[in-house]
Amino acid sequence: MHQVPLFINGEFTQSSSSQLIDVINPANQEVLAQVPCATDAEMDAAIASAKETFKTWKEVPISERARIMMKYAALLKENHDELATIICHELGKTFEDAKGDVWRGIEVVEQAANAPSLMMGETMENVARKIDTYSYMQPLGVCAGITPFNFPAMIPLWMFPLAIVCGNTFILKPSEQDPLTPMRLAELFVEAGAPKGVLQVVHGTKPQVDRLLEDPAVRAISFVGSCGVGEYIYSKGTANLKRVQACVGAKNHMVIMPDASKSHVVNNLVGASVGAAGQRCMGISVAVFVGQAKDWVDEIKAGFENVRPGVWDDANAAYGPQTSKAAKDRILSLIASGKEQGATCLIDGSDFTVEGYEQGNWVGPTLFTDVTTEMDLYKEEIFGPVLACMFVDTLEEAIELINNSPYGNGTSLFTSSGAAARKFQHEIEVGQVGINVPIPVPLPFFSFTGWKGSFYGDQHTYGKQGIRFYTETKTITSRWFEDDIASGPNMSINLK
Ligand code: NAD
Repeated sequence: MHQVPLFINGEFTQSSSSQLIDVINPANQEVLAQVPCATDAEMDAAIASAKETFKTWKEVPISERARIMMKYAALLKENHDELATIICHELGKTFEDAKGDVWRGIEVVEQAANAPSLMMGETMENVARKIDTYSYMQPLGVCAGITPFNFPAMIPLWMFPLAIVCGNTFILKPSEQDPLTPMRLAELFVEAGAPKGVLQVVHGTKPQVDRLLEDPAVRAISFVGSCGVGEYIYSKGTANLKRVQACVGAKNHMVIMPDASKSHVVNNLVGASVGAAGQRCMGISVAVFVGQAKDWVDEIKAGFENVRPGVWDDANAAYGPQTSKAAKDRILSLIASGKEQGATCLIDGSDFTVEGYEQGNWVGPTLFTDVTTEMDLYKEEIFGPVLACMFVDTLEEAIELINNSPYGNGTSLFTSSGAAARKFQHEIEVGQVGINVPIPVPLPFFSFTGWKGSFYGDQHTYGKQGIRFYTETKTITSRWFEDDIASGPNMSINLK
C-alpha cells in the first residue's frame, strides 16, 4: 500500500507514525493510499526547517522569487490534466470539474508572479524639511495553511505561492481525505526551482494542527474549512498572537426576479446548486423566487431530472459521489429532516446509485419547496446536491431573508433590471455578489471576500489582501544631514 510521504526540509520522507488514514476513491471505496498523522518530532522538524530556511529565503531578490512562480505556473499548465486525474480518483469530481479546480489555482500562481508590483510600498519626500518617509512590505516568517477536501488543488494554491513569493516559508497541512493532489503540487514546485525548505507538507488532523497553532515560530495561519474548526483555529491561533484568516462554511442564496431570463435562470441554478455534488462553498443551496418567478419551479424540477451523476471519466456525468460515507449519511439525514419538518420534497436523491459503482457515496439531485427558516434543511450547511426553494413577494423581503442569515459567503441575483441589481448589490450583507452570475468567485487580482459567519479575520485570501496578510509594513523616516551643526535637542515629537 502506497504511504503518502511527508515533505520536510526538501525531502519526501516516509513518516514513522503508526497512525494511518485510508485515502479512498469515493466512487468505489478502493483504498488508493494511506496518509500518516505526522509525529510530534516530524512536526517539529518541519517547523524548524521552515524557520531556518526563512533566514536565507527572505534575502532572495523578489524578481528571482517571482520567476519561480512563472516557471511553476507553466509546469502546472503542462501537468494540468494529470493533476485533474488525481483529483478525479481521490475526490470523485468529473474530469471537467477537476480541471476547473486546477485552473483556478493556476490563476493564483500567475498572480503570485506579479508580486514585485504588488509588494511595492509607499513613498513621500519632504514630509518635514529634508525628511522623507517610505515603506516596505516585508515577509513575516513561517506561515502555515490548513486546507479542506473540496478543492485539493485550488485551495492550497490560494495560499503557499503567495506566502512564499512574499519571502515567507510555508507549512501546508492538506486535507487527510485527498492529500495526493497537494503532494503532486509540491513535487512540481520543487521542479520549478523552489529551494529546499521553503515549502513543507505535513499530514494529520487536529493534533498536527494544534502543533502549528501552538509553536511561536508560526506567525500566520490560513485556514479554509468548516465553521466549527475555523472558529477553533481562529480563536486558538489569535490567542497565541498569530495572524489568522479563516474562510469557513456557507449557505448561499440565489434570488430570482420575475423579469429575469427564464432559460438563464434554469441553466445557472441547476449547475450552481448540484454541480460538484454540492460540495462547493460558493454553490447555491437556497433559491429565493420573487413574485411570479415561483412559476418556474416546474422547469427547475425538469432541469434536475435531467442531471445524471456518474464516475469521473463518464463524459456525460454531471457530478460525482460525495467525498465520504459520513458526508453522504449526513446529507441523507438532513434530507430526512426536511421531510419530517414539513418541506415538500419534489425530487429525492436519497436512494440514487450508479450502475457498476453501487458502493459509491452517491446522492442524486434533490429539490425541496415550502422550506422555512426554522428547518434544519435551511439552517445547516448541507454540502450536498440539495436545493431548497423559497418564495417571497418582493425584492426587499428577499434581501431581508439573506441579511438575517448568519452566513455571508456568496449570493446572486438574476434580473434584467439595473435598478434591482443596484439595490441588491448595495443592500445585501454578503461579501461576494453575482449579478446574473451564479457563483461569483473573484479572480485572484481581487480577493475572496466572504463576510459574517463565513469568514473570521480581516485580511482576506489572495489578491492584494492576501499579500497584506503575508507581509508586515515597515515605515522608514529618513534624514541626511548636510552639515554637522546641531541646533540643540528637539524636545517635541514634531518633525522639523
Ligand atoms: P473541515 O473543517 O472538516 O477540515 C478542514 C481542515 O481542517 C482539514 O485539513 C482537517 O484535517 C482539519 N481539521 C479537521 N478537524 C479539525 C480540528 N478539530 N482541529 C483542527 N483541524 C481540524 O472541512 P472539510 O470537510 O474538509 O471542508 C468542507 C468545509 O469547508 C465546508 O464547510 C465548506 O463550506 C468549507 N469551505 C469553505 C470555503 C470558503 O472559502 N469559505 C472554501 C472551501 C470549503
